[in-house]
Amino acid sequence: MNKKSLFGTFGVRRKANHVLTPEFASKLATAYGNLVKGYVAVGGDTRTSTPMLKHAVISGLLSSGCNVIDLGILPTPAVQFAVRNYYDGGVIITASHNPPQDNGIKFVDTDGIGIPAEMEKKIEDIFFSDNLDRISWDQIGGLESNPNIIEEYIEDVISRIDQKSIRNAKLKVIVDCGNGAACFTTPYLLRRLGCEVTTLNCQPDGFFPGRNPEPTKDNLKDLIKAVKTIGADLGIAHDGDADRTICIDEMGNFVFGDKTFALVEKNMLIENGGGLIVTTVATSSAIYDIAANYGGEVLATKVGDLVVARELKNRNGLFGGEENGGLIFPDFVYGRDAALATAKIVEIMSRDGKPLSRLIRELPVYHSQKRKVECPDDLKVKLMDKIIDVTRDYKVDTKDGVKIFTEEGWVIIRPSGTEPIFRCFSEAKNEEDAERMAEWGVSLILEHLNL
Ligand code: MG
Repeated sequence: MNKKSLFGTFGVRRKANHVLTPEFASKLATAYGNLVKGYVAVGGDTRTSTPMLKHAVISGLLSSGCNVIDLGILPTPAVQFAVRNYYDGGVIITASHNPPQDNGIKFVDTDGIGIPAEMEKKIEDIFFSDNLDRISWDQIGGLESNPNIIEEYIEDVISRIDQKSIRNAKLKVIVDCGNGAACFTTPYLLRRLGCEVTTLNCQPDGFFPGRNPEPTKDNLKDLIKAVKTIGADLGIAHDGDADRTICIDEMGNFVFGDKTFALVEKNMLIENGGGLIVTTVATSSAIYDIAANYGGEVLATKVGDLVVARELKNRNGLFGGEENGGLIFPDFVYGRDAALATAKIVEIMSRDGKPLSRLIRELPVYHSQKRKVECPDDLKVKLMDKIIDVTRDYKVDTKDGVKIFTEEGWVIIRPSGTEPIFRCFSEAKNEEDAERMAEWGVSLILEHLNL
């Protein structure tokens, strides 16, 4: 395996029992344990390979002298919640929204935030140098379990929500957990809040027989149909490890993640009388418009939920998120959280007494376009430098790739961190301008690709 490719944007993600074997998982966990030396919580999603990898990770941690707390099967944010409140570190066995054959290992620090790049580098150095510190037999760590975290996590969400309005609204909600980790949280949470809940794909199953774990429009056809047939007020879908929430409105429309982000942002700013919002440079201008109207301030970071979570902590931010439906409530969990996001959306609908489609219509309207252009990895840096150079005379932001602002809107051009492609997103007040901006971005990439 290539040394540099061990960690992706958040943890190691590979095909289970192929590269991601028990030996690999155990050794990687020992390297992490050597740096943490304390109480480490371990949890994972519903994948078939999760128990195998979890036990290997536990062995590796115990061998490094760490004490291990097994949290069982639960959402990624519930592990982050547990670590932040009780432990020195955490390991999450999950491949998030990837297909069933994959799995992954994520490490978090004592605040429950994904570990920074410097620590990943240290783990890799220990892993590849075979310089593992295996402690003596009389110092091997202890193993215990904590089955109460899910209950505490659900209770904590409920304590942050206006339960009375939700109870009075008696909303009909269909929950599609995609057979993933949310099976243990969202249906129970919503029932306890007083919603009338119908479940779809809510039996945990690592073969994901109901649908692909990624909550895209194509994968949510059954949910969309169920919302229309039953006449529900809302459809809720999660990814495999339950850190993302996607909504279907009462008409059966798929609601894009940036819309729910904007809706919750507006309400967080109203409830708190303003505050700092953190998001990435690739997110909609609607986030800025809402902040300007409701006493907020926006900080844009590079693309990636870890960067957003870390900035929220460092700057004591109020709320953050990404355009894909990942919402971060830093007061609760320093990472994307699906349970509080779901409860917040239900709370807003109940309190305002408006259907979701109308709440979405009241938000600032922008049109966006997404394109990609193939580009070999070894040409990425040179091509990016060239595009930055030729767009110097425009108003630009170069935090991540280059975001170019014009009268019509903006376009962002950036190399993908995981695939041999350049991404190009645009946004404008109308469809035609958004398309034009995107095509201009693509032409800039193609024009300089062959130099
Ligand atoms: Mg996920």
